[in-house]
Amino acid sequence: MKYDVCIIGAGITGAMTARKLAKYALSVVVLEAAEDVAMGATKANSAIVHAGFDAECGTLKARLNVMGCAMMPAETAELDVPFDRCGSLVCAYSEAEMAHLEQLLARGRENGVPDLRIIGQKELREIEPHISDDAIAALYAPSAGIVCPYELCIAACEHASINGVEFRTGFRVSEIVRRDGSFLVSDGRDTVECEYLVNAAGVYSDTIARLAGDTDFDMRIIARRGEYMLLDRSEGGMAKHVLFSCPSANGKGILVSPTVDGNLILGPTAKAVDDREDTATTDAGLWEVQCGARHLVPNVNTRAVITQFSGNRPTPVGADGDITKSDFCIRPSACVPRLLHLAGIESPGLASSPAVGEYAVELLWGMGLSLTEKETYLPGRPEKIRFRELDDAQRAALIARNPLYGKIICRCETVTEGEIVDAIRRPLGARDLDMVKRRTRAGMGRCGAGFCSPRTVEILARELGVPMTEITKCGGGSVILNGGEK
Ligand SMILES: Cc1cc2nc3c(=O)[nH]c(=O)nc-3n(C[C@H](O)[C@H](O)[C@H](O)COP(=O)(O)OP(=O)(O)OC[C@H]3O[C@@H](n4cnc5c(N)ncnc54)[C@H](O)[C@@H]3O)c2cc1C
Repeated sequence: MKYDVCIIGAGITGAMTARKLAKYALSVVVLEAAEDVAMGATKANSAIVHAGFDAECGTLKARLNVMGCAMMPAETAELDVPFDRCGSLVCAYSEAEMAHLEQLLARGRENGVPDLRIIGQKELREIEPHISDDAIAALYAPSAGIVCPYELCIAACEHASINGVEFRTGFRVSEIVRRDGSFLVSDGRDTVECEYLVNAAGVYSDTIARLAGDTDFDMRIIARRGEYMLLDRSEGGMAKHVLFSCPSANGKGILVSPTVDGNLILGPTAKAVDDREDTATTDAGLWEVQCGARHLVPNVNTRAVITQFSGNRPTPVGADGDITKSDFCIRPSACVPRLLHLAGIESPGLASSPAVGEYAVELLWGMGLSLTEKETYLPGRPEKIRFRELDDAQRAALIARNPLYGKIICRCETVTEGEIVDAIRRPLGARDLDMVKRRTRAGMGRCGAGFCSPRTVEILARELGVPMTEITKCGGGSVILNGGEK
């Protein structure tokens, strides 16, 4: 079959584009190299819905960030994804940094960020009691918020899927041939034919541009790694807003932020790495994270760390080698008809994503894609049970409906067997331990999945109808039980 549109990459950019296209009578397929969606930059980032004062005025980044931030409450409500408009504070420690705040304020106002203002030390201390005594003022952006990035991406994909968008995971595009007005997109085993091709391949978006024959695409993408520490819920109250230091040429610096799940996140660093898939954490990086976090919140207890991780920013490098002035590269190819680039989407790509998705659809329409709204379109996604958020009466009613909701599998995060079964049976359902974890939080707690993993393996094997020895942690050869082999 020939698809109307093929999207390469199921990060938040590809997912939001798929979700927005799902409204129309079109055949759409998303090809993703990894075994699950949301496995690139979308899996590991700061989770901030930035207000939009960072990006240079007049850039796509500025416009789509402010728009995406404004869209986020409705978008997350429709997709049943937790979102907290907690606001952000950029803290100043000197007169020079005060001047920087004034610049950010002016830029933010020009970008259209609502209700932005500078607050003094007294108010800062009142709304953020654990902030350093040395912070003298802050730029307060009440419109900023936090969201779980992979949950948003999974939700957008589920929504696209129930509206007919096809997802093929484990499909790493390695060849693109143009023939008779079509693209033939192949992973070396299978080939997909389509009329319009969307390049949303994150750190590999320059590779995909070249494979598609776009000789005009002169942008190089480098991977800039950001390392993080995630602290236990016991530390969640140490920050009520997203706390930043003043940005430098290297980016927004180390932040301290609450997460929608009640934890505290510290990070990220920013270091260019040669291997675009190298997401290791390092002693030096984690030390930098701790020092940066203490600069903002001196009493932060970094011993309460639950996990550490890193993600790679798909950073575009301009012709002059400069990364600081780079903008999102969202445009139709200048030389390959019906090829759309959504490339080099570094921060604030998460915050901007609903606006990027809408803009992508608008551009495809401008490129000739015909858009007719479908009568069968379903807003939202199938109901998602979150047992830990229910009161006693709601829990009792749920258990009466299905006793599997009465069996707690993950004690740290209060996740039931019923929720794990749901995660397996949902659209784009879980097939390994980490997929269950990202969909339910089973295994995300302080025990490091020690207690729940064996039970989750059993449930996966039962539901998928395979022996437990075939269940993996994260696909590939990551089997957990080896059947007694030495
Ligand atoms: C450290 C860090 C902190 C950040 N903090 C924030 C923040 O707080 N707020 C914010 O708004 N943004 C933030 N960002 C930016 C945000 O994470 C990205 O802009 C966004 O996730 C990019 O999404 P994407 O879909 O374009 O790329 P990705 O999420 O990387 O998705 C690209 C997908 O393409 C797939 N792919 C690649 N090559 C192929 C191929 N050949 N065939 C098939 N599939 C392929 C990949 O497997 C991947 O799944 C941060 C990023 C990082 C790394």
